[in-house]
Amino acid sequence: MKITDLRCTVLGQNPVVRITTDEGISGLGEVESSKSYLKPHILFYKQFIVGEDPTDVERVMLKIRRLGSFKPWGSAVSAIEMALWDIAGKAAGLPVYKLLGGKVRDRVRVYNGGVRFPMNGISPEDYAENMRKMKAAPEKFSIIKQGIAFHGGRIATVPEFFYGDAQRGGFHPNRGPLTERGLKHVIACVEAMKDVLGDEVGLALDCGPGWMVPDAIRLAKALEPLSVMWLEDMLTGDYVPYVSPDVYREVTRSTSTPIHTGEQIYLRQNFKDLIEQHAVNIIGPDPCDIGGIAELKWVAEYADLHGILMAPHGVGDGLLGLAALVQVSATLPHNYIAFEYPVGRPDWWYDIVEGLPDPIVQDSFIGVWDKPGMGVELNAEAARQYLPEGDEDFFD
Ligand SMILES: [Mg+2]
Repeated sequence: MKITDLRCTVLGQNPVVRITTDEGISGLGEVESSKSYLKPHILFYKQFIVGEDPTDVERVMLKIRRLGSFKPWGSAVSAIEMALWDIAGKAAGLPVYKLLGGKVRDRVRVYNGGVRFPMNGISPEDYAENMRKMKAAPEKFSIIKQGIAFHGGRIATVPEFFYGDAQRGGFHPNRGPLTERGLKHVIACVEAMKDVLGDEVGLALDCGPGWMVPDAIRLAKALEPLSVMWLEDMLTGDYVPYVSPDVYREVTRSTSTPIHTGEQIYLRQNFKDLIEQHAVNIIGPDPCDIGGIAELKWVAEYADLHGILMAPHGVGDGLLGLAALVQVSATLPHNYIAFEYPVGRPDWWYDIVEGLPDPIVQDSFIGVWDKPGMGVELNAEAARQYLPEGDEDFFD
């Protein structure tokens, strides 16, 4: 079998990759919704993979893996990897999880990072009210993640939160030492959310990046009695193109509150120090950024050897990304907690993808399906109307 073409279109906000072959089998991959600008970058890789055998996934990856980097520049390589596995599975007549070593669980736990309700403000009561809505969601999530402090730029609206100038929008870092008032505000918001969730639903917190080490330690120690699931990306994360394992280690060694990072990191080599130095307790690679599902699987196994847990990132990965997350998470060792459940936006994404269970999530779990490849397809008839101008031949 040989690869004949690499195509890319943007459906809604998500770039979608389609690899075609000379045997009529094609494979799909998807890039995060926050990266709709990546199409030209994805098409750059076509010259390296046409003519290769897609079922030799690793040999194809060796041709392109070095042409990637931290978020957002690992996405194209990752989406291509997923499309290759999709083809390899279909060619073998097997679900992808079988090709990764087989499943160790029949259903995979997911956590809520994407089923959201608008917030009126960022007072503790606003956080509590928002958490009540998420707790009542029909998916009955057993873990909910919420953004606090520097995460998502909310902090620009809290006066005197930190000793720095708040930046709004774009990719500016908001980073600096917190005021006493700022730290108290964060703790009060977390307490308000825990009052709602009790011990029925786990609370994870996406915190930054932007914290200084002494403040990060203060927060982590203050929250110890609340047993939160993890504190994510306090020091680095999101679009930060480095890891700082030694600095993370200083925070992690000072507290019993689990410390988490890793969504922006590309390739196993860049997880090596984080894992070997026990710099965090939990890592959250995203299969759409790390370099693909086999890369994520390898890192998960290596993390497990070192007593480090897995909570893969995925909120923007869309419904094809969801399928990839289900396939790989079914194969992960016992250090697996849950992956971040991606939602399809706009809603018509649910009309153009075939193969997902209905409902998708039940009691915070997704049942692992057995169809060949990733087990999901785009319905060309339904999807054609959403193709941007110039991409009319995407499904041909
Ligand atoms: Mg995050």
